[in-house]
Amino acid sequence: MPDPLFPTLASGSGKEALRFGEQALAYRELAAVAGGLAAGLPRGRVAVWATPTLHTSVAVVAALLAGVPAVPLNPKIGERELAHILADSEPELVLAEPGVELPEGLAALPRHDIPLTGEATPIPDEPDPETPALIVYTSGTTGPPKGVVLPRRSIATTLDALEDAWGWTGEDVLVHGLPLFHVHGLILGILGPLRRGGSVRHLGRFSTEGVTRELATGATMLFGVPTMYHRIAGEVATDTALAEALKNARLLVSGSAALPVHDHQRITAATGQQVVERYGMTETLMNTSVRADGERKPGTVGVPLRGVELRLVGEAGETIEDLDSVGEIQVRGPNLFTEYLNRPDATAAAFDGGWFRTGDMATRDSDGYVQIVGRKATDLIKSGGYKIGAGEIENALLEHPGVAEAAVTGEPDDDLGERIVAWIVPDGEPPGAEELADHVAKLLAPHKRPRVVRYLDALPRNDMGKVMKRALGD
Ligand code: ATP
Ligand code: MG
Repeated sequence: MPDPLFPTLASGSGKEALRFGEQALAYRELAAVAGGLAAGLPRGRVAVWATPTLHTSVAVVAALLAGVPAVPLNPKIGERELAHILADSEPELVLAEPGVELPEGLAALPRHDIPLTGEATPIPDEPDPETPALIVYTSGTTGPPKGVVLPRRSIATTLDALEDAWGWTGEDVLVHGLPLFHVHGLILGILGPLRRGGSVRHLGRFSTEGVTRELATGATMLFGVPTMYHRIAGEVATDTALAEALKNARLLVSGSAALPVHDHQRITAATGQQVVERYGMTETLMNTSVRADGERKPGTVGVPLRGVELRLVGEAGETIEDLDSVGEIQVRGPNLFTEYLNRPDATAAAFDGGWFRTGDMATRDSDGYVQIVGRKATDLIKSGGYKIGAGEIENALLEHPGVAEAAVTGEPDDDLGERIVAWIVPDGEPPGAEELADHVAKLLAPHKRPRVVRYLDALPRNDMGKVMKRALGD
């Protein structure tokens, strides 16, 4: 029989596994309730209405124990996206927290309320590692979300590689404030600690007060997206309790989008801590990370994780060996997904031999650290014969005291091919376009100066805090 995904679950341990506010379950209790729920699940797929709750965690663990693929649904999902996901994934029922109202679009599906208590039940035999465990829809940043079929093998591989990179143990207590319908919050944030035999304290909704409270009372790690670290960076210089709490943390991890260097530096200045950045995707789970025992280089996503092969590929399909030359990141390894659900065309197009085309562009330094330049589709601007990454211009703009948030895109230009456009959320009095362009030219190079500056009240972001560049200008 294969090794269990959650070795601690069968141990009968009274140690706290998951806590959401006032509600908590010890490993023994989680085994009973999830084991009981698993026994009553159908064999087909199940949808999970993935509110940030203990219920969602129980439902996903139950489906994993049963070997039934779970499809987590964003509770803020719109009608059209819900209809697309249901038609695509064809779940047999929806698991939901008792009392929570479900949208019209789910009315046709049988509903099963998720319990929080149950009688001790034997844990089912471990399914084959290739059994589909989760079908997670991508964030939809670049197009309609695709259903990514993730086998148990991918999940176990990625979590064990992170154990290696981060020295992650069962002693770690994680502060968690992320949604549970994506791989970051669900696989890393819930399944990760459960696989290690550690504990999770979920904040329900992210707040810096919650981070302070949990880190001051024994939590050791924090997982967040850059928008959360941006909040922390803005408050930590004046909030001494937050600074003290962060100083005590063993590991602060950021992922899902690029962490601006400026935020990284502000956190380090106030706490001495260096945030560890890792890079992953729904399709590949985690690819690279800065190692806990390695050098931290702000603005990079570290080195390939154990078992992950990574190469950079140029436009003509050539493998790029030169340091500092930009290429598309391609990865290979046991962390990869099986396929896009019902999309053999998209699956085939995503692979180059056995290598997965991430669509992300990057360079590598002499230590093998990967620096993401941006997405091929939206972040690479071809202007005046140069290929310019949006990311470094965004980082430069964020260093200007009058800039709170920045996104950079290209738009067609008769002379240049494309011209650089900066979308700015000002911090106080908006700095002038000329001043911002000069600031970028001085820090980077004259050809990287934005030609157009547009001012916004907020950047369009999805639920993971990712900037939706497609929606800029709408
Ligand atoms: P879709 O594929 O539907 O357009 P998406 O790519 O945003 O959406 P995810 O799988 O959730 O969906 O996100 C993966 C992407 O997030 C990566 O391809 C990369 O562009 C970005 N990303 C993740 N971590 C980092 C990071 N540390 N730095 C920069 N970008 C990151
Ligand atoms: Mg993607």
